[in-house]
Amino acid sequence: MRMSKLFVQTLRDFPNDAEAISHKLLVRAGYIKKLTSGIYSYLPLMQRVLTKINKIIKEEMNAAGAQELLMPFVQPADLWLKSGRWEVYGKELARLNDRHGNQMCLAPTHEEVITSVVSGILTSYKQLPVNLYHIQTKFRDEIRPRFGLLRGREFIMKDAYSFHSSQESLEEEYENMARAYTRIFKRCGLETKMVQSDSGAIGGSVSHEFMVLTQTQSGEDDVFYCEKCDYAANSNHAISKLANPETDGAKFGYSEEKLVDTPDVKTIEELSKFLKIGPECILKAVLYIADSKPVLVMIRGDKEVEETKLLNAVGALEIRSATSEEAQEYLGCEAGYLSYLGVDKNKVKVIFDNSARGMKNFVLGPNQPHKHLAGYNFKETPEFIDVSLVKAGEFCPCCGAPLKITRGIEVGNIFQLGTKYSKPMGANYTDENGEDKPFIMGCYGIGVTRTAAAAIEKYHDDFGIVWPKEIAPYHVDVVPVNADDEEQMGAAQKIYDKLCAAGVETVLDDRPDRAGVKFKDSELIGFPYRITVGKTIKEGLVEFKCRKTGNVEKLTPDEAVEKCRQILLN
Ligand code: ATP
Ligand code: MG
Repeated sequence: MRMSKLFVQTLRDFPNDAEAISHKLLVRAGYIKKLTSGIYSYLPLMQRVLTKINKIIKEEMNAAGAQELLMPFVQPADLWLKSGRWEVYGKELARLNDRHGNQMCLAPTHEEVITSVVSGILTSYKQLPVNLYHIQTKFRDEIRPRFGLLRGREFIMKDAYSFHSSQESLEEEYENMARAYTRIFKRCGLETKMVQSDSGAIGGSVSHEFMVLTQTQSGEDDVFYCEKCDYAANSNHAISKLANPETDGAKFGYSEEKLVDTPDVKTIEELSKFLKIGPECILKAVLYIADSKPVLVMIRGDKEVEETKLLNAVGALEIRSATSEEAQEYLGCEAGYLSYLGVDKNKVKVIFDNSARGMKNFVLGPNQPHKHLAGYNFKETPEFIDVSLVKAGEFCPCCGAPLKITRGIEVGNIFQLGTKYSKPMGANYTDENGEDKPFIMGCYGIGVTRTAAAAIEKYHDDFGIVWPKEIAPYHVDVVPVNADDEEQMGAAQKIYDKLCAAGVETVLDDRPDRAGVKFKDSELIGFPYRITVGKTIKEGLVEFKCRKTGNVEKLTPDEAVEKCRQILLN
């Protein structure tokens, strides 16, 4: 490709609506162009990157025994009504009516469609297992599209769905996919960590995410992991051993139950100071509204509620903190002094977090303003469940070593769905005994566009993108320093022709611009290698430069071509 012909416009400045570095660089280097919020055109350079990622995905999925198909992007509502997700999917599902008034939606995912595709075709246990995948555009009306391709509204996903007649068969395929995913990301130049995760709107019980670990804030997930064993989990799913599971307020002089005045003392921090007691000896009450119903969480004062866990625990779709008016309405008291004591359990659901299990002689609100109850003990042991966020410094639930925390970008995930879709949708096969059984299903997603962006988050420097060579749009940029100089241009052209003939993906920067401009673009776009043809061509030498290391070698043109062949084609 000649640079003068390449459909690309590099910008001098970063776009001002971009926060994530991958977003900034993709726009500035001419890979994507925004159409509207969260929706982008993938320009020729981007398209080449995506094609490469897709090729790797397809090769590995095919090698793992999956088969490619392609399913529709626009789907009828009745499928979603059948699965029960039409009501529960919320505003992320973009709904529309066709000219006949039929309700439709833009595919955010394809569980419903694949289930309808296989029914009537996969009918017997003898045909199972089967794994079908496609690479398709999805639309999710994300509440906060941001970070460019990392969280778009329209994006490209590879999703695969497997069908089984037993849990063992599903588990085998789950492992098979986990191995394929590790290979896919490795071939894209990305190290990933497989972490346990919440199953979210997709559903199912067992699921893992593949995370690219990063320290930047564009890593939207927190991951807790253990360096001693292989425990790793998304914070929405992580559990831990507490440093001090047993706490006793007696240590702070509160061994007898008494009501104490705590005027205007509302927060845990204030209360801890005022009563001279550790926050781990205070039982905090936090009121939430889950699908318009009040839920009161009682949790140890030094712990925080993990809202995804709470959402799952109460089986709600949406959750938010209650306002102070709602606290008055449901508990008859202002926030700061709330409690489960005396609460009508038919009106307010009360949840006790696991962290409160080992508390003795603790302080809690009495549902009376400006007072707290100290030296309290549970009168009857409540049922404890886990709805709290792990904190750095807590310990691995498997081996007890300290847990570490890092941020991650979820590039893929795998789910054991079980019969969540097949049952309500009546997708059955006939087993050995001639009985109808719902398929046992798995599903496996990879964010194609997000993977490309994650690679940039990982591999860039002050000058631009540093693509792993496996997914770079082109491998080599041949730059004649002075395109008007016949000798330089002639030599550059020859190198370019030889590289192209050898199958190396090459750009010839034949633009009449200054060398500085061409070098800047070359680095911004992130070609893994550059061959510069300058004055030393008179001595028969060119410069061969590696984008990643910055290493420069003086080689003859033929040596440079040979070097590219060796690095790029083996
Ligand atoms: P997230 O937790 O990031 O919202 P998800 O768990 O809802 O994603 P899935 O529905 O399982 O994601 O989709 C599979 C993959 O698609 C994800 O692992 C991610 O890589 C990608 N993906 C999901 N949402 C987006 C988005 N809005 N923009 C780009 N890629 C996305
Ligand atoms: Mg997720």
